[in-house]
Amino acid sequence: MTPESIFSLDETHDADRASWVESARGHQVFPLQNLPLGVFSPPGGTPRGGVAIGDEILDLGAALARGLFEGDALRAAQAAAGRTLNDMLALGSGPRVALRRAVHAALCEDTPQGRTARACSDTLLHRAAECTMHLPARIGDYTDFYAGIHHAYNGGLRHKRPSPLLPNYKWVPVAYHGRASSVVVSGTALRRPNGQRRLADDAPPAFGPSVKLDFELELGLWIGPGNARGEPVSIARAGDQIAGLCMLNDWSARDVQSWEMQPLGPFLAKNFTTTVSPWIVTLEALAPFRIAQPARPDGDPQPLSYLLDRDDQARGAFDISIEACLSTAAMREQRLPAHRVSLSNLRHLYWTAAQMVAHHTSGGCNLQPGDLFGSGTISAPERSGFGSLAELSDDGRTELELPSGERRTWLQDGDEVTLRAVARRDGYATLGFGDCVGRVLPAFVPG
Ligand code: CA
Repeated sequence: MTPESIFSLDETHDADRASWVESARGHQVFPLQNLPLGVFSPPGGTPRGGVAIGDEILDLGAALARGLFEGDALRAAQAAAGRTLNDMLALGSGPRVALRRAVHAALCEDTPQGRTARACSDTLLHRAAECTMHLPARIGDYTDFYAGIHHAYNGGLRHKRPSPLLPNYKWVPVAYHGRASSVVVSGTALRRPNGQRRLADDAPPAFGPSVKLDFELELGLWIGPGNARGEPVSIARAGDQIAGLCMLNDWSARDVQSWEMQPLGPFLAKNFTTTVSPWIVTLEALAPFRIAQPARPDGDPQPLSYLLDRDDQARGAFDISIEACLSTAAMREQRLPAHRVSLSNLRHLYWTAAQMVAHHTSGGCNLQPGDLFGSGTISAPERSGFGSLAELSDDGRTELELPSGERRTWLQDGDEVTLRAVARRDGYATLGFGDCVGRVLPAFVPG
């Protein structure tokens, strides 16, 4: 069974507890109840593990040196204090939850540990705005699912299929193996890719900058302990293989994609850059935002038994808002805020995180600590929640109007896309994942 600890509510979720870190009080992204894990460099320092708290970052190595941890929490903090979090992810949920509880105690205003930590706060905390964030883990493999059913449906409509979803969609959590080498942390710019594309339906292909550059509003899932090759993870235990979540932008060159992907799937259209938000928001932090997997519409098949677990169906999904915002160079010049182009929710995923893990490993594939999954684009059923420009612009036929008066069908050079998640529920502290931002640079010009 998946351990209760990633679902259970304890003192770390208590909205009435306050931190001695002033900026954390009422913080809408990183309050005391969130405590996500990441890797950062303070000014002039080397990369190291930390925990976001308000506008600050707790340095786990410095906290270790002050003797703030013991037992399982000590083990987890030691594994998380270095340049990557892979060793900590490998430990699984027990030590991770112990670390969360110990960090919570150290950052709480009315605990003995909190008083000890506060007395040496200048050695423990760094101003987040002055730090550089890094990828939280060395990513061995990256897999992108297709679990956003409204996105899949809209894609089928664009291809004018009489029945928009392909026959396998409701049986198989469809995915492809992506490219780990080009996954970058939020804030890293990306070049518009060059590739083969046909500029008119009846024209031969030409090589050059993509003219249909798009974003995809996705959830990222960080793998914990992993499994041995040849030993599938059962659906009942699969939920515990996910350590935490982030936001993920699967940048896509639609013109390259439509030409190249028959019959083997996306290749250069997707592998030039994938952006993730820097913090691993742990499953235990998200316990208050768990919901039942929304019921399948009448007539849909039951998942096959290796994908069906009563407990996973009862609480394996999340009610968390997600959004995509667009800002252009002209908007930034005019000091206009980024414009929200999509508002959706994780509840629109057709498959749960546990089903993705169970399916991925069902044939014997081994997952490793620090592997990354993308959920697939999470569109809402209504247009205001479509999670890509391909859907929002009807494949380039409908222009989006921006507050600057500019219009967009596809991304232009200088455009910046920001993805965010907001977890909100009455009686609990609101928390976020941190921004997933990337700005488009002009294509590489061969010299
Ligand atoms: Ca995708």
